[in-house]
Amino acid sequence: MSSAYQIIEHRYDVVIVGAGGGGLRATVGMAEKGLTTACITKVFPTRSHTVAAQGGISASLGNMTPDNWRWHMYDTVKGSDWLGDQDAIEYLCREAVPAVVELEHYGVPFSRTEEGKIYQRPFGGMTTNFGEGIAQRTCAAADRTGHAILHALYQQCLKNKAEFFIEYFALDLIMDDEGTCRGMMALNIADGTIHRFNARTVVMATGGYGRIFFSSTSAHTCTGDGNGMALRAGLPLQDMEFIQFHPTGIYGSGCLITEGVRGEGGYLTNSEGERFMERYAPNAKDLASRDVVSRAMTVEINEGRGIGEQKDYVHLHLEHLDKDIINERLPGIAESSRIFGGVDVTKEPIHVLPTVHYNMGGVPTNYHAEVVTLKDGNPETVVPGLMAIGEGACVSVHGANRLGSNSLLDIVVFGRAASLRCAETIERNAPHKPLPKNAGDEALARLDKLRHANGSQSTAEIRSNMQRVMQKHAAVFRTGKTLEEGVKKTQEIFDAFSDVKVSDHSLIWNSDLIETMELDNMRGQAVAAINSASNRTESRGAHAREDYPDRDDKNWLKHTMVWVDEQGQVTIDYRPVHMYTLTDDAEVVPPKARVY
Ligand SMILES: Cc1cc2nc3c(=O)[nH]c(=O)nc-3n(C[C@H](O)[C@H](O)[C@H](O)COP(=O)(O)OP(=O)(O)OC[C@H]3O[C@@H](n4cnc5c(N)ncnc54)[C@H](O)[C@@H]3O)c2cc1C
Repeated sequence: MSSAYQIIEHRYDVVIVGAGGGGLRATVGMAEKGLTTACITKVFPTRSHTVAAQGGISASLGNMTPDNWRWHMYDTVKGSDWLGDQDAIEYLCREAVPAVVELEHYGVPFSRTEEGKIYQRPFGGMTTNFGEGIAQRTCAAADRTGHAILHALYQQCLKNKAEFFIEYFALDLIMDDEGTCRGMMALNIADGTIHRFNARTVVMATGGYGRIFFSSTSAHTCTGDGNGMALRAGLPLQDMEFIQFHPTGIYGSGCLITEGVRGEGGYLTNSEGERFMERYAPNAKDLASRDVVSRAMTVEINEGRGIGEQKDYVHLHLEHLDKDIINERLPGIAESSRIFGGVDVTKEPIHVLPTVHYNMGGVPTNYHAEVVTLKDGNPETVVPGLMAIGEGACVSVHGANRLGSNSLLDIVVFGRAASLRCAETIERNAPHKPLPKNAGDEALARLDKLRHANGSQSTAEIRSNMQRVMQKHAAVFRTGKTLEEGVKKTQEIFDAFSDVKVSDHSLIWNSDLIETMELDNMRGQAVAAINSASNRTESRGAHAREDYPDRDDKNWLKHTMVWVDEQGQVTIDYRPVHMYTLTDDAEVVPPKARVY
């Protein structure tokens, strides 16, 4: 089979797939430690979705208000609705401080306080003293924090001589018979050549899968390719039912308006001009956790207090804020609102509604970023040679609901953790083991089949059906009935893929083929997400069921693990949440009611 293609061989200590904030932070770290490192990416590194992150990155630096990483840990556990693993959350919040200082030294141009310290703004769910006051914990470079981080990290990668394979589409993992990951197959999008990477460790940093939905703040490239590869390798995904809706997407375009706007004093109103969040979250009000605000907005709209002809959005105000604050701290928001919403934010409110924004679920890992699976009854079994980081991974530090500004933190902290672990475990001077005889054959057979697919439905048609089904059946509020229908419909869409038509058979610059491979990755995730949601008969974090409105710790304090095979058949199992800390420096946060 492989002889049909000319294959270019490569050999590295580490291959990182993805050049977003997670992938680049891992790449710098590996290269700094002297490991031979390649980073493969389907888009130019600084065009990864991380570039769109606006509001900032959390760390208890205490530059503006007193702060403590234990308070940050408490907020994150509570924000996760107790589904987060507390050992990993301790690691995240404690390592946040050195990780952000390191970013500063790498050259990230953070906004500054008068004394020249990193500027920090309030964000939803971030408090002082275990829930008492409001913390200013989110470090910001105006409203373009992701842009600043991504550019600084890319420059550091180049400085440390990491090698980049840009506009290469990763096809599949190379796994051997023992279940060890041995490398990666990729297609060079520009010239159609096939590349086989032999690696001691592969790090998947391929980002989220927001594009399985119709309306999403994520880039069109956020198709969760690494999750698709994991499923094809027979590995499970974790907590796929937990999908975050951001309260403030611009009505119509889905473009994000950062929570930083509410952090700087912006607020929401309904058709009666009422600041309704005061009713739902008397203390935190507009700065309650995202799931809470999104549900409140949805209730307002469902009860007829939405605005506009269809009464289907609410208002976000910042016209009362000082113009200088807007210009200095939220310039990108003013611009996006003008372009995508036709609104001058200094004069009128923005029309907003909850929009799919972030995926808490993904490839399960431990806090070293090593991929784990359930084997012989042990759900912590490490998959040798394979790591996952970033939005595509599930450590799990976000549990059932991520707090804003904890994701940029997640990608940096666990990108760094992956490189620390590799520096410790990889034997640099050992000879590279040869790859298994048929390494990559299956990936190439799949490529061949898709390239010549000659069914009756276009990729765009099937994708659009999938996105609409997910939008309708895995929404802010869910019920058993809508989920069951969704399970059936996603299975039909999964099957419809065998009837796909790819009109261009070329391997060179073939966007139809690339989008078809992305859809192949997405269809399994849609099935995984909706089945996991249908199985979970409780409400927790972003998973809100009208028929099971309460959190049920007795039966559901556990992570979902889901497998989807080639036919779309689903297997679901569960693993316990880590209700223990990593060290004695922190205390376990016991479950209690989650009010803001
Ligand atoms: C609009 C927006 C604003 C946000 N704002 C904030 C914020 O203020 N604070 C915060 O903490 N979080 C924020 N988030 C969330 C956060 O930005 C993301 O979760 C995070 O940046 C994801 O980083 P990543 O490295 O995992 O993936 P990404 O940045 O999405 O990068 C994925 C990489 O994988 C590569 N890739 C994917 N598939 C393949 C393939 N098949 N072959 C080769 N390469 C592949 C891509 O080329 C890309 O380089 C925001 C998200 C959005 C959408």
